[in-house]
Amino acid sequence: MKTKLVTVIEEDKQREVLPEAGKILQEGGLVAFPTETVYGLGGDALNPDSSRKIYAAKGRPSDNPLIVHICCMEDLEPIVQEIPEAAKKLADRFWPGPLTMILKKTEKVPYETTGGLDTVAVRMPDNPIALGLIRAAGGYVAAPSANISGKPSPTLAKYVMEDMDGRIDMILDGGTLGIGLESTIVDLTGEMPEILRPGYITKEMLEEVLGKVETDKTILSLDSKTPPKAPGMKYRHYAPSGELTVVCGSQEKVVEHINKQLEKACLEGKRTGVICTEETKELYKADFVKSAGKREDEAKIARELYRILREFDDEKVEIMYSEAFDTAGMGQAIMNRLLKAAGHHVEYL
Ligand code: AMP
Ligand code: MG
Repeated sequence: MKTKLVTVIEEDKQREVLPEAGKILQEGGLVAFPTETVYGLGGDALNPDSSRKIYAAKGRPSDNPLIVHICCMEDLEPIVQEIPEAAKKLADRFWPGPLTMILKKTEKVPYETTGGLDTVAVRMPDNPIALGLIRAAGGYVAAPSANISGKPSPTLAKYVMEDMDGRIDMILDGGTLGIGLESTIVDLTGEMPEILRPGYITKEMLEEVLGKVETDKTILSLDSKTPPKAPGMKYRHYAPSGELTVVCGSQEKVVEHINKQLEKACLEGKRTGVICTEETKELYKADFVKSAGKREDEAKIARELYRILREFDDEKVEIMYSEAFDTAGMGQAIMNRLLKAAGHHVEYL
């Protein structure tokens, strides 16, 4: 299959290309597109064949459900059994935006899309290209991140191309993205709202709207044996090809320890890399030292993380170390992705 790559940053270009991209989706094809979080791999969410194709293109296990993307509130009703008060409040406050809600599905949504579950994950993305595409496609676009399963999610179209060239019909290049980590997922089907995947919308932000919110305990746990409640969170994810270790401790100790490990790796002839912050970037001796930004600027760290992991792949880095980050606020999402990228290799000093 020939994959068409189109840059749609200009509004004129969007007007020209979105109807064509929407038609591809309506006819059962696949189109990758930008959202405010990461690039998504879109197919018609109400067409079981499209969902099957998404799993095949990504090499994703088919028990890992897809998020259904909508472009307006009126389109929520037909796909869910009820819209609980909590969902209305959250949509009011955070949609369009990086929040996915789990609700009870209607028959309209095929099991191929929900990985066999009776619930459906729904989100309204905050990106004009995404919203235009969803409208042009008929209202419902299933879209996981547009990467080969297990790799870091793409935050640039060139990484979508790297993974998906020849596997899908079209890639819409919308330039760089605002957030860079996947949406927060909150389950609204139980007694108490529960966060299944942390993201840009934090527990504190949700609690401001809903009162008490729980968090799936496995999110930051180091034991990878208890399965998380979002089926997809159990898989190794976001991972670079080399071996990544996260090191926790005081700045001084972390720098000293990582440098010692780097020296060993270097003697073994390995290519090395470090993920650090502006505060420490001059202190490391690795082949590639990458700062994700200032320690206090969590939004920037979130935006940079996947790009850095992908660059390490481009540079064929074999041994990587990363500083740990605070787990308050957005830091929880950053550490959750980093721990998964590291396959839970963590060292405490
Ligand atoms: P991705 O599409 O790569 O952003 O991953 C979607 C995430 O949403 C995966 O971790 C899924 O397991 C999770 N998810 C989607 N639908 C549901 C659902 N109905 N219940 C629980 N988790 C879900
Ligand atoms: Mg993904």
